[in-house]
Amino acid sequence: MLLTLTTTHRPATDLGYLLRKNPARAQSFDLSFGKAHVFYPEASEARCTVALLVEVDPVGLVRNRRGPAGEGGLLDQYVNDRPYVASSFLSVAIAEVFGTALAGSECKGRPGLSDTSLPLRVEISALPCRGGEEFLRRLFEPLGYHLSATCLPLDPRFPEWGESACHRVQLEATLPLHQLMSHLYVLMPVLDNDKHYWVGDDEVAKLLRHGEGWLATHPEREAITRRYLKHQRSLVTNALAQLMDEDDTHPDETANIHTQEEEAVERALSLNEQRLGTVLAVLKASGAQSVLDLGCGEGRLLSRLLKERQFTRIVGLDVSHRALEMAAENLHYDRLPTLQKERIKLLHGSLMYRDERLAGFESAAVVEVIEHLDPPRLAAFERVLFECARPGTVVITTPNREYNVKWETLPVGKFRHRDHRFEWTRAEFQEWAKRLAALFSYTVRFLPVGPEDAAVSSPTQMGVFERAKP
Ligand code: SAH
Repeated sequence: MLLTLTTTHRPATDLGYLLRKNPARAQSFDLSFGKAHVFYPEASEARCTVALLVEVDPVGLVRNRRGPAGEGGLLDQYVNDRPYVASSFLSVAIAEVFGTALAGSECKGRPGLSDTSLPLRVEISALPCRGGEEFLRRLFEPLGYHLSATCLPLDPRFPEWGESACHRVQLEATLPLHQLMSHLYVLMPVLDNDKHYWVGDDEVAKLLRHGEGWLATHPEREAITRRYLKHQRSLVTNALAQLMDEDDTHPDETANIHTQEEEAVERALSLNEQRLGTVLAVLKASGAQSVLDLGCGEGRLLSRLLKERQFTRIVGLDVSHRALEMAAENLHYDRLPTLQKERIKLLHGSLMYRDERLAGFESAAVVEVIEHLDPPRLAAFERVLFECARPGTVVITTPNREYNVKWETLPVGKFRHRDHRFEWTRAEFQEWAKRLAALFSYTVRFLPVGPEDAAVSSPTQMGVFERAKP
């Protein structure tokens, strides 16, 4: 990943003071995920350019993670575009290498310079822009940048492969350096929409700190906040509330935004409700008393299952500790009476590995989970569920990609920008499901979930598998 920053402020070499990096010297820095190099391809009175080259070590990044034994399951972690594309790694590198400049601290020997507007030009060799050039413009132009972007081909040798999500981007503006750095720090991961680390409460603080003075009034503040915080609703709500406080100069607009948000959330909620309602109905109709909720997330289905007397043994499993913590919280697990507590259990585990704890259940739900699994690893999941756990009834839901054309009015970040590895058409899902049914001796039928459209059917598709009688 390469970022260059040029100024024509005179003397241009003052850039070295602002960045606390001597133009005469190339320097390297160790980062937790690789190395950063800083050097100046050009340093004269009239023009000075600094380059930040970040090398990500994708092998080192995954070295301590465990993969399935004897399978190339980690291959996708080794073979990826991380070393070449700008992303949250570049943001972290900026904070580590140019921390004082990012903070806008007063510059020794050049009083007032850190707050002086300078003519600045940034070039980023490959910036992933999920949302395309239009989204890129909506982010940077309101901040006063003149922007040019070129979409990069996936591979210049094979033009027929088409375009990548990456753009070569040039930004020009006259502003204090620390402002430009804060914009980049926040907006690069927003464009990438795929932060490499878990976001927690301290990310809200970082967002507010680096967004100070511009984010509260930015027309895309909601999209920025959602994507920066990886769509974690409680964090997003918290950050937006604080931003609204900061920008209470337009109470009407604020109220309006609240309403819009509510509507968007409600629309999403009602689909959720429908989905969970349908899953619950199918599980009840199966007559099962024991049920697995695989990839249970925050436990929305679990709390409904718990309300149904029919289910005497309920197990939720998820790979995310955080999700399980939230599930326990949402279920008020600690305060459940003993009898209720005995009915439900939360397990930490991955659907990629055989797990004895999942055997012997009459039914299982896998709600909006498969699209989070890497396609090469789906086969492992299939065997874990249909060969090892082998419940009598299995309900699987996943988005119907065909319906995406109908989501135009939903805010950016709903459905199209979640952590999905794929979204299937009805034909793709049904082909997959029928193959599994045949392979593992199940029957399968399909149900639409949510409002149905004549052409593209419903937003969610569901497969109900029944184990064939021996
Ligand atoms: N079923 C829930 C959550 C869906 S989000 C609901 O409908 O609300 C997808 C969930 O799958 C996340 O909680 C994620 O942590 C979990 N998940 C992703 N990969 C997983 C894996 N390999 N094993 C178990 N859970 C996984």
